[in-house]
Amino acid sequence: MDELQLQHDSSETIMAALFTLTPCQFSDLRHSLSSDLRRQHHRLCSLLRSTTRFSQTLRHLEALSLHQKTLLIARYFLTTLKQLTRFWEAETPNTSVAVRLRDLDATLLLMLLCEVHQHDKQALERPPAEWRHILNEYVVSNMLAMAGVGVPSGAIVLSPFIDVATRCRRFLDAAGCGGGGGKVEREVATSAAAVVALPSVELCGTGTECAICKEAMGGGRDVCELPCGHMFHWMCILPWLAKRNTCPCCRLRLPTDDVLGEIERLWGVLLRIGRSPRNSCGD
Ligand SMILES: [Zn+2]
Ligand SMILES: [Zn+2]
Repeated sequence: MDELQLQHDSSETIMAALFTLTPCQFSDLRHSLSSDLRRQHHRLCSLLRSTTRFSQTLRHLEALSLHQKTLLIARYFLTTLKQLTRFWEAETPNTSVAVRLRDLDATLLLMLLCEVHQHDKQALERPPAEWRHILNEYVVSNMLAMAGVGVPSGAIVLSPFIDVATRCRRFLDAAGCGGGGGKVEREVATSAAAVVALPSVELCGTGTECAICKEAMGGGRDVCELPCGHMFHWMCILPWLAKRNTCPCCRLRLPTDDVLGEIERLWGVLLRIGRSPRNSCGD
C-alpha cells in the first residue's frame, strides 16, 4: 500500500537523520523529548479527569472552523519537528511557535479524538456526554501497552516521536503541499526575521551576475547572500522574498511565519540530512 510505504520511508528518513547526531546530541534530544511527552501526557490525563475542563475544551473545539483545527494540529507538528531539526538549523529569532495552554488542551484532545476514531470507527458515534469516559479508557489501556517492560528506553522515547513526525508528513500531503508527486507548491513569504538576518557582502571585482536582473553585481554594499551561498542585489531579492521563501537559483527554503510552509521546510531539512551520501553507506 502507498500509505504504508510512505510511512516506512518517512521513519527511515528520520532514523537516518538521527544517526548523524553525536551521542551527546542524541541523549540531549531524548531528554527533551521524554520530558515533552511526559508533560503532554500529564496535561491530557488531567484534562480527561476534570469534567469542567473537558467540556470547556470540547466546546472550544466545536467552535473552531476546520481551517483553525488544521492549524492547531499543524502548530503541534511544527513544535515537534523543530525539536528534531534544531541540531541542523541555526535558531532563527521570532519564528518560535508559542502555543497557548487552551490551544494545547484543544490540540491534545483533537489528536486523541482522531486516534480513537482511527482505532474504532464506532466509538465516537456514542453521545458526546460519554466521550470523556471512552477517551479515558482508551488512554489507560494504551498506557499499559506503552509501558513495555524490557524495551530500551531510547526506543520508547523515540517511537511515538517518529510516529508524530511521520503523521506530520502525511498531514502535509493531505493539506496539499507534500512537496513531491508533482503537486503545485504553495508560495509563502520569507519570515521578516530571516530576511533581517541575511548578511550583506562586499564583492571584490566584477563579473558575478545577479540571477534576477542579469546585471553584474559591483562593489559596494548592495549585495545580499542567502544561506546557500547564492548572491543577489538587495533591491532584486527583497521583492522576491516578500512573496516566496525559496532561493531563485537552487530553491533552498528560508524560514517562514506560515505554519504549513515552515513544516514543509523543516521536513525538507530532515530529508536532506537523512538522504545525504554519508548516510547511505551500508545500504
Ligand atoms: Zn539584480
Ligand atoms: Zn541558492
